[in-house]
Amino acid sequence: MASVRHLAPEGRADLANGVRLTTSGLSFSYVTDPVLREVSLEVNPGEIVGVIGPNGSGKTTLVKVLSGVLSEYSGSVQVEGEEVCNLSHRQLARKVAVVPQETESALPFTTLEVVLMGRHPYSRGLSFDTAADIEIARWALERSGAAHLAARNIQRLSSGERQRVVFARALAQQPGALLLDEPTSFMDIRYQVELYDLVRGLAVEDGITVLTTLHDLNLAAEYCDRIYLIGEGCVRASGPTDEVLTYANLTEVFETDVYVDTNDLTGKLMVIPLSGRARDELSQRRKAPTR
Ligand code: ADP
Repeated sequence: MASVRHLAPEGRADLANGVRLTTSGLSFSYVTDPVLREVSLEVNPGEIVGVIGPNGSGKTTLVKVLSGVLSEYSGSVQVEGEEVCNLSHRQLARKVAVVPQETESALPFTTLEVVLMGRHPYSRGLSFDTAADIEIARWALERSGAAHLAARNIQRLSSGERQRVVFARALAQQPGALLLDEPTSFMDIRYQVELYDLVRGLAVEDGITVLTTLHDLNLAAEYCDRIYLIGEGCVRASGPTDEVLTYANLTEVFETDVYVDTNDLTGKLMVIPLSGRARDELSQRRKAPTR
């Protein structure tokens, strides 16, 4: 009988072991021009790896290829050494869970029903959700700060609330790896930090593998162990977070001016985008004769 993993004694869901994700020479085109070009990366169990880059640089496409949504790629994409396009959706969904950018639901499910969808990779035929499934779904909602939303219609939640629910659905899959595509884009600062604190706990304590795209470079600086900076579908820089979030890398790839400094409180980097006016003032100051 297919095993359904239950909650661990301490009330923590028994997550799968972290799984290694790799791509090698990965290229992908929707039409003719490649959107990903020879992307090679690896994410190991226990790591949080960030993917950053301008709009349209290929971040979401990369997540979709890694999660098996887009399978017509060239090169190699592996989960635990197995080529993603050779795994069934069910096999892949037991190892890798995705929090996509789009979280809108076409149907008026309750939040709990949405989270229970995360149990489908373990279901048998058309069987009903088991008591264990419901327990795990409730645990996932609790961990995601969304337990109070369980009975609500998913279509009537705010975007930030819906993101928490979709994160809970991913947790209910009890995956070994999480692929997060801008998972906090609609959340207020409290929930951004709470979600990434949870993600850090899942990586550090449970050994889960995490790949996350983010636009907020300060969240990237705080939470990511390593970063891949992508521009026009290519990896333009990669390595430990502090080595990638440099003034030179960011201004070149994002084509805008930034201020990068160390946050005295945390010792991590902080990145402040400069407005047009701030840039003008800076260049005036540079031109002004020094007394
Ligand atoms: P990012 O997540 O970095 O903003 P995406 O991966 O969403 O970038 O998009 C990369 C490029 O692929 C963009 O130029 C985008 O317009 C294009 N693209 C995305 N989805 C499709 C699609 N379904 N069909 C054709 N082109 C697409």
